[in-house]
Amino acid sequence: MTARTPRLEIDLAKIGHNVRTLIELYGAKGIKTIFGVTKGVCADPVIARVYKENGISVLADSRIPNIRRMQDAGLPGPYLLLRLPTLSEAEEVVKYADLSLNSEIAVVRALAGAALASRRIHKVILMVELGDLREGILPPDLNAFVREVLSLKGVELAGIGTNLGCFGGVEADEKNMSFLSSLAETLESEFHFKLQFVSIGCSNVYSWLKNVDETRRIDNVRVGDSLLLGGRDLREHGIQGLHCDALTLVAEVIEAKVKPSVPWGTIGLDAFGSIPKFDDRGEMRRLILNIGRQDFFYGLVYPRVDIEVLGASSDHLIADGKDSGLEVGDEVAFDLDYGAMLVAATSPYVHKIYLNREDTP
Ligand SMILES: *Cc1c(COP(=O)(O)O)cnc(C)c1O
Repeated sequence: MTARTPRLEIDLAKIGHNVRTLIELYGAKGIKTIFGVTKGVCADPVIARVYKENGISVLADSRIPNIRRMQDAGLPGPYLLLRLPTLSEAEEVVKYADLSLNSEIAVVRALAGAALASRRIHKVILMVELGDLREGILPPDLNAFVREVLSLKGVELAGIGTNLGCFGGVEADEKNMSFLSSLAETLESEFHFKLQFVSIGCSNVYSWLKNVDETRRIDNVRVGDSLLLGGRDLREHGIQGLHCDALTLVAEVIEAKVKPSVPWGTIGLDAFGSIPKFDDRGEMRRLILNIGRQDFFYGLVYPRVDIEVLGASSDHLIADGKDSGLEVGDEVAFDLDYGAMLVAATSPYVHKIYLNREDTP
């Protein structure tokens, strides 16, 4: 084995399968388009290409540099900016993103100004607050907001949307989802237009979607996590038919020794400023692996062999090796959740290896 560690192995065939399967599953419920969210893997253009080749039309990311990364790799848009734009980046947003999510009229005005100045039309999706308390216009304020957006040149109202399950942990349910449908229908009849997108996210909307026959006026979802990790972080611990192991973090044992389970000497603060506590389990076979907090989020990785992660410093992961028989030089594979994937994908110290890659780089 010559591949270096630590590395993130990305199985493109499994991600492609997840994309096709989710499009079909959601399509059967009335979801016409899926915005493929790329922020969990730092907008890796190889992965974004797999999204596109398997039927995702719009690529969505929360950061302009990530959108530029995909554009620089030659991937065609349209591109959606997920995080609310800052006032100061209005020009860049209009230049690099075709659509953006918005909840502040001052920002939409700035986008309109920037779009006019560069002779473009920028599409906006207005976010509505339905209880999760992250971004969103309060429903009673929506009409006046829409009225002003329609009066602005340079921007086009492409839809409305909502974000759930991110900050407040609020789930999509019959009540808030039918409320969103009603809001869309009311706007459409009052202003005599058709919204191109009535959009929901994040991945955890699956828990609601799977149980409904059709989604009424809702016709778009924004998902990343479930395309990449198959919904392994959801309440269901995986969406049926999807792969949860398309991404694997591989690290290597750099020390394996029988040592006590409790440190000795005068105990002060650990490297991250807290006083560590340890249970005395007697002597154990302790492993050190060559990954740390600069490479992943250590609470959120799951070894595929029976060892127990005890903690991590910036560059080392410490584990109870149990009866695994792991020795120096052995590799350990981990499943990741969203947080671990995000940090591993961002870390320049983690090599990215693609499995089942069809295009030539
Ligand atoms: C990140 C994000 C999503 C996608 O979330 P996942 O959990 O990756 O599916 C959708 N919408 C918005 C606004 C986001 O910021």
